[in-house]
This record gives sequence, structure tokens and C-alpha cells, in this order.
Amino acid sequence: MTTPQDRIQFHQGRLSVPKIPTIPFLEGEGCGPDIWRATRRILDAAVAAAYSGERRIGWLEVYSGEKALRMLGSELPAETVAAFQDYTVGIKGPLGTPVGTGIRSLNVALRQMLDLYACVRPVRYFPGAPSPMCQAAAVDMVVFRENTEDVYAGIEFELGSAENQRLLALLEAEFPAAYRRIAFPNTTALGIKPISKEGSQRLVRAAIRYALQNGRQRVTLLHKGNIMKFTEGGFRKWGYELAEAEFGGQVYTKTRWAQTAKAQGDSAADVEQTAALAAGRLLVDDMIADAAFEGTLARPASFDVLAAPNLIGDFLSDALAAQVGGLGIAPGANINYETGAAIFEATHGTAPLLAGKDAANPCSLILSGEMLLRYLGWNEAADLVIGALTRTLADGIMTQDFASQVAGAVGVTTTQFADAFISRITG
Ligand code: NAD
Repeated sequence: MTTPQDRIQFHQGRLSVPKIPTIPFLEGEGCGPDIWRATRRILDAAVAAAYSGERRIGWLEVYSGEKALRMLGSELPAETVAAFQDYTVGIKGPLGTPVGTGIRSLNVALRQMLDLYACVRPVRYFPGAPSPMCQAAAVDMVVFRENTEDVYAGIEFELGSAENQRLLALLEAEFPAAYRRIAFPNTTALGIKPISKEGSQRLVRAAIRYALQNGRQRVTLLHKGNIMKFTEGGFRKWGYELAEAEFGGQVYTKTRWAQTAKAQGDSAADVEQTAALAAGRLLVDDMIADAAFEGTLARPASFDVLAAPNLIGDFLSDALAAQVGGLGIAPGANINYETGAAIFEATHGTAPLLAGKDAANPCSLILSGEMLLRYLGWNEAADLVIGALTRTLADGIMTQDFASQVAGAVGVTTTQFADAFISRITG
């Protein structure tokens, strides 16, 4: 039984966290239960060690996916959404989504229902983890992916459906120039890509605030505005407008140094850029996404906080995860900074081949839990998690996904990894 005293509250932009907050968890599907078991033990051990038993987490299980369908008759029961709403902060394992048919993603539905507009995905290298990079230690980026708009809004129509036919007919009648750009109108399924000024600006605002609060030096807006001029180009334009209007004195935007470059030549712009850094202001620039995929591989040290529309952010955060060991070590959070609502979850999916084998790497969910602890302001416990993870990997203890890429390493099970991890928290 939980009481109102156990609830995390959010007032005037601040979380108020009781000593034993109720936190809903959803263990997820596939490898979810395995990695959740390990994560829960580790988070509990870190909190107990940091606060000598004075604080602890009151875990509350909620259900989604097949387990919920079996138990409660719905894949996303209203109780689950209500629990995440009422208790403000939660954590979840991965949920499966069929491709091409069946239900829309429960993950996306939850993010949209709770309006968790910022998907925050830090990418950082821990020594001992495998990496294809020559300079793995230089990889330290945080992706802010817009989480509610773009092609993820789910506005698309199946080929042959009445809706698709009507939309095609409307385009032909009302927007003939656009219709003529459809290569094969008789066999085309249509989708709509909504990107708004409000949605873009709240995401860019969150990224800039994060960068300022965490001593970061640069926020880069990623987009394909050269091709999608009004949607992704809008994201870029509105992002710069927001940066200038709300953070004028604290940031130095590329639009400003581009003006200087035009007047004085490129080298002058470089001088300006360096001067802005020296003056301690945050650089806000932008990059076309394809160039950024190349740049983050070739020059990882020059990237810092990255703000992107939904699809680009999704692709990029998985690609960046490969630089630091793979999806097994890719944490994330879905946050609404106005309501305080947040659900922490790994970047990866259900890893069906590993389901129930006690073999999946729990690091992504553990680090998502570490983000949760920091979100609560429980930094001492979060620091213990980072310290123990660093020591565990440095001692060569890792699950098979990592061990198979590290010469001489022998993979351990998920449970053995958690045991070794906990002994480094408490030892
Ligand atoms: P996936 O992330 O489950 O797996 C991709 C690859 O990464 C596989 O080789 C897998 O074995 C490996 N991998 C993933 N997590 C790992 C871990 N913790 N330890 C070791 N290896 C790991 O992606 P997928 O196979 O494309 O998707 C499977 C299902 O998950 C799909 O139904 C998809 O829709 C869903 N999915 C859910 C989420 C989410 O819940 N947020 C995110 C992505 C995909």
C-alpha cells in the first residue's frame, strides 16, 4: 500500500522527493525481466550504501504488453498510464512492437500519452568496454531527441485503404504540383510528418538548459533542412530563434558567427568562435544530419550536446552507442520538463534471442537507473553506480556481447555481472 507521503511531487519546476518514494516499474518483455532483476538489485544496493538505509525506493510493479494482456485484458492498461502519471517518475524495460502490422508501439504511445517530449540519451565510454573507435575515450555526447512529433506521430495510411485513396485524391485535386512529385501514385502509401515550432523549441530549450547546467560547451542542432525545408528546416530556424530570444547572453549562435564570416572571411569566424569559448558562452550551431553521422565518427571530441528531430535522434543514438560498446550500454530517459514526468529506459529493444537466458547486458538499464537517481537528486547513490560500473568493466567482468569483442575476456551471466557489480558498491 502506498500513501500520498510516498509520492514524488513537482512544484514550480522542482521535484520534491520523500525518503521512500514510490516508483513504478515495468519489467518489459524479451530480455527485460533479466536485466530488470539485475538493475533493481544494483539500484537498491547503491541507495542503501549511500544513505545507510535512511532512504530506499518503494518499487511498484505496473504492466504492459503481453503480460498486461494476460492479466488485465489490455496491452496498455489505464492503470499503468495512471501510475506513471501519479508517481511522476518511473522506469521501464523494453516492449516488443511488430513491424508492418499489429499494434502501434506501446513505447511511443506511453511517451505521447504522458507528453514526454525529450528523449535524453547520454553516450559515454567506460574503459574496458569494446569499441571500434581509435579514440573511444573522446566519445562523450548527449543526444536530445524530440519524442512526440515527426514521422513517429503515426499518421500514415495503408496502400489500398479508403483513407489513402482519399488523401491521394485530395492531393491530386488541391495540390497538383505536390501530387506530380509522387513517383508511383497508384502504389504509394502516404505518411505525414508533423514538426511544430512549439515542439521544436521546447526540445531545444531543454538541450540548452542541460548544456548550461552541466558545463557543456556546444549544442548542435541536427536536421535535414536542406531537403525538408519547412519541417526539419523549421526545427533548425526555430531552434536558433529560441536560443537567441531566451538565452541571448549565455549562448553564441552560428547565425551570429556566420554573419561575421560573411563580413570578414571564414578565419575571422573561427577567431570569433574561439573567443566565444574563451568567454565561457555556449556555442549553438547546426549540422545536416548525414554530415553529423560522419563527423561523430571521424571527430567525436568536437561533438557535445546534440538536439535532433525524432527520427534522426533515434538513428543517431543507436549509431553512437556502437562507439562505446553497443546497445548493451545505451541508457535513456523520456522527460517532460514542465510537468516533471519522466520514464527512464534503455535505448535497446527486447533482444528476443537473449530472452530468459540470463545473458543480456544490463548496463543500459542500470545506467538508465543511474540517470533516475540523479533526476531525484540522489547523486551520492548515482556516483556509487558509476564508480562500481567503472571498476567492474576495468576488472574485465562483462556479459558475452562485450566479452566476444575483447581479447581474452570471458563472458559472465547477467546475474553474475550484477553480483560482481554489487560487491564493488559495497566492498
Ligand atoms: P534490439 O535492440 O532488441 O536488438 C538489436 C541487437 O542488439 C540484437 O542483436 C540484440 O541481441 C542486441 N541487444 C539489444 N539489447 C541487448 C542487451 N541488453 N545485451 C546484449 N545485446 C543486446 O532491437 P530489435 O531486434 O530490432 O527489436 C526487438 C524488439 O524490440 C522489436 O519488437 C522492437 O520494436 C522492440 N524495441 C523496443 C524498444 C523499447 O522498448 N524502447 C526499443 C527498440 C526496439
